[in-house]
Amino acid sequence: MVVAHRVHKQFGHVEVLKDVSFTVRRGEVLCLIGPSGSGKSTLLRCINHLEAPTSGWISINGEYMGYRRRGLHLHEQRTADICRLRSRVGLVFQAFNLFPHMTALANIMEAPVGVKGDRKQDAERHAMELLDRVGLAEKAKRHPKQLSGGEQQRVAIARALAMRPDLMLFDEPTSALDPELVGEVLDVMRDLARDGMTMMVATHEMGFAADVADSVMFMEHGSIVDVGTPDEILINPRNERARRFVNNVS
Ligand code: ATP
Ligand code: MG
Repeated sequence: MVVAHRVHKQFGHVEVLKDVSFTVRRGEVLCLIGPSGSGKSTLLRCINHLEAPTSGWISINGEYMGYRRRGLHLHEQRTADICRLRSRVGLVFQAFNLFPHMTALANIMEAPVGVKGDRKQDAERHAMELLDRVGLAEKAKRHPKQLSGGEQQRVAIARALAMRPDLMLFDEPTSALDPELVGEVLDVMRDLARDGMTMMVATHEMGFAADVADSVMFMEHGSIVDVGTPDEILINPRNERARRFVNNVS
């Protein structure tokens, strides 16, 4: 489903991703953990081409994200194809970036109607189903400021799902929330995983990762230090640096 091959990313002289390779299979959940600045967000941004890798490539469902393969070379391919590929990848950030002047329902309908050209009626029906799925059917007509942080983040997840993505990327979706609101968002993500969504999740929630991840990737200074099952990385870390990190955060 997602294959990253020898991805490097440089900002100026600083290399923030170094030779990153991994595979995520359909229906799998990969959790990314690692200290601040280790490159988790940059990697997620490369996957939907908000950043272009300096070298290496990433494919989603066998299609090269932002690149066209010609012989042995990959050529950057812009606009339409990137937009099309991106519409299959849902992204949820740390800060709930809902449109403040729109209701929850309108936020969710925006991309299906505006980008995909779905009929309003169909988009509304689907949006209501999604609000129900994240437990917010009653609050469809509220504006973001009338919702709690946890509710806003659940709307953000529903909005990402509205494009019927094949892959969902989460970048620390609960780290801006008050502790008592974290659980409701993780529950929605847990349900999604159980329904078979392919997911990559950068998180500091070790309990969630241990519980939901099929594999866990520990990054440091832009490199993958170790990838393995939750047991190998989080519960009985076989890598000394991973062990130290996990003991410090949990
Ligand atoms: P955190 O846990 O704090 O979110 P992270 O693992 O997500 O950290 P990144 O945000 O990917 O880390 O950052 C990796 C490195 O790349 C950091 O040193 C950061 O300063 C640097 N970096 C990120 N974006 C840029 C940019 N646009 N220009 C220059 N440097 C950047
Ligand atoms: Mg980050």
